[in-house]
Amino acid sequence: MQNAALEAKEVNGIYVALKVSPPTLRSAVEGLRALGVAGFNVTIPHKVSITRYLGGLDSSAALLGAVNTVVNKESRLIGHNTDGLGAVRALKEAGINLGGLCTMILGAGGAARAIAFSLAPEVESIILLNRTGSKASKLAKDLQKALGASVKGSRLTAESLSENISSADLLINATSVGMHPKTEESLVDRNLLRSDMAVFDIVYNPLQTRLICDAEAAGAKTVGGLAMLVYQGALAFELWTKKKAPVEVMFKAVKTQMGME
Ligand code: NAP
Repeated sequence: MQNAALEAKEVNGIYVALKVSPPTLRSAVEGLRALGVAGFNVTIPHKVSITRYLGGLDSSAALLGAVNTVVNKESRLIGHNTDGLGAVRALKEAGINLGGLCTMILGAGGAARAIAFSLAPEVESIILLNRTGSKASKLAKDLQKALGASVKGSRLTAESLSENISSADLLINATSVGMHPKTEESLVDRNLLRSDMAVFDIVYNPLQTRLICDAEAAGAKTVGGLAMLVYQGALAFELWTKKKAPVEVMFKAVKTQMGME
């Protein structure tokens, strides 16, 4: 269940992507439990619906109400969510010290939610801007209630972006804007980007999004979406095997798989 768009396929003898349709999710989960697999990943459209077929959720999955990693603990399937922690690890591995940062997150979908919940305890404050303003306000309220986080949410407009970006030390694009095939799109005017800020774009196809190119041109520190993709997978690997993930091998494998190497 790695990617619903992939047909069953084996890579390096250890990774199998299986297509599962929503009506067969329950039996697929039961089948994997019966087979005694150590664990598996889950992606869209099953991240929320799978929670009702599992034996429990860890704290991150319970907070988010969504699962991307399942661990088989003595035949009890426990749901985890490594998306947000993968993003935090990507930022830290890039040398970004999160303590005290004012963070602006664009988006309020599944990825933005996971990132915001993992980042909130680490940073000073969060400003959430989303095209659908009500989703940004709801996410901000959920973060305040669950974590007591200093966060405000509002509708993403040219005005709200330019008003708030001047106080942001870290800008995160957690929307799908800039993703293939609309690779020329960016939500942020290049003139708003500064050399004293860090810019993280979670879009990984293409590796160099328009936002990342503009941020580099402005002299900002940049982090691309591939790092989050690899680190959320590395955290899942570590949960299943209790061994340190071979991150370099994983970066290479993802790039090869995506035809980028
Ligand atoms: P999602 O739940 O569908 O959310 C999509 C988000 O993008 C929403 O906030 C949506 O705003 C916003 N959006 C879409 N089109 C927009 C536009 N034209 N202008 C402004 N905002 C727009 O999707 P998701 O799961 O959060 O994923 C978002 C992106 O992150 C995707 O590109 C995905 O590939 C990428 N991603 C990367 C990783 C990684 O490991 N690097 C992990 C997960 C996801 P509305 O709420 O107003 O619709």
